[in-house]
Amino acid sequence: AKETGKGKYVVYEEDMQREFDERVVIEKHLRNAIEGQELSLHYQPIQQLGAEGEVWGFEALLRWNSPALGFVSPLTFIRIAEDSRLIIPIGQWVLRRACDFMAGMVKKGLTDGRISVNLSVSQLLQEDFTENVLQTLEQSGLSPRHLELEITESIFMGSFDLIRSKLEYLRRTGIGIALDDFGTGYSSLSYLVQLPITTLKIDKSFIDGIPAEERTASLTSSIIAIGHDMGLSVTAEGVESEVQRRVLEETGCDKIQGYYLSRPLPESQVQAWLESFQN
Ligand code: C2E
Ligand code: CA
Ligand code: CA
Ligand code: CA
Repeated sequence: AKETGKGKYVVYEEDMQREFDERVVIEKHLRNAIEGQELSLHYQPIQQLGAEGEVWGFEALLRWNSPALGFVSPLTFIRIAEDSRLIIPIGQWVLRRACDFMAGMVKKGLTDGRISVNLSVSQLLQEDFTENVLQTLEQSGLSPRHLELEITESIFMGSFDLIRSKLEYLRRTGIGIALDDFGTGYSSLSYLVQLPITTLKIDKSFIDGIPAEERTASLTSSIIAIGHDMGLSVTAEGVESEVQRRVLEETGCDKIQGYYLSRPLPESQVQAWLESFQN
């Protein structure tokens, strides 16, 4: 396109139209995804750093294999699910599935760790959200201490007092609360101390800078220190190399998650991974 104002405008409009069409198509197919059994969860291990190096737990990550569209990235379809409110039934499905899976593993004695489940703000704003979570735990026979809920700084766009009271209620039952993608959003530290958070997850974009970028590495170490000052456990996301693992361990980071340890695994591979890890 020409560098004229008009040319740019036309191209921009076409892009917007294409994106809109894509969203409409994805939303249409997503409506059938639960009933069509097109959704599944993958589980990514999280490891405790330090001498023991135990498996702390797993994060549940949603996958959608659409017969019409193939595999669609969660980065694409979750935003559309949020805008169309389909995230409510989908999020409920995720929670149920993750709790059932973890309950099964605990019963078999394979793990005593936690399952971490991602939440969208609109789920938290549902009136019956807290009852739903507790009921889901009860139905799957999973103790609250085996569940962690991951929220992002986008919760600050909702009603802060309402969200805080719901999180406090859930926290009192023993459920863990993780603040995901930390460092990428807008939260102020004063808000953070007011929420019953148990884990701070440092965003991958910081970890990517280790070891090459000195300033990113020192920022990471400051985040770990702040987390510890606030009494939180700190997890590094997106750890891909042995060097990163070592630097993080030396900096006092509590847990790591990333391809270095394992990619997210389909349900059928989790048990074998655990067994080979422990041997
Ligand atoms: P997230 O919660 O930050 O999840 C971590 C993402 O980083 C996952 O992408 C994971 O596969 C990827 N990852 C983990 N380790 C590495 C690594 O070492 N290198 C690289 N390059 N990537 C790594 P995924 O599975 O594509 O999920 C993307 C996002 O979609 C998630 O980011 C989360 O925000 C959202 N999401 C996934 N499942 C759910 C869900 O059930 N509910 C909601 N509300 N959001 C979800
Ligand atoms: Ca997450
Ligand atoms: Ca994250
Ligand atoms: Ca992320």
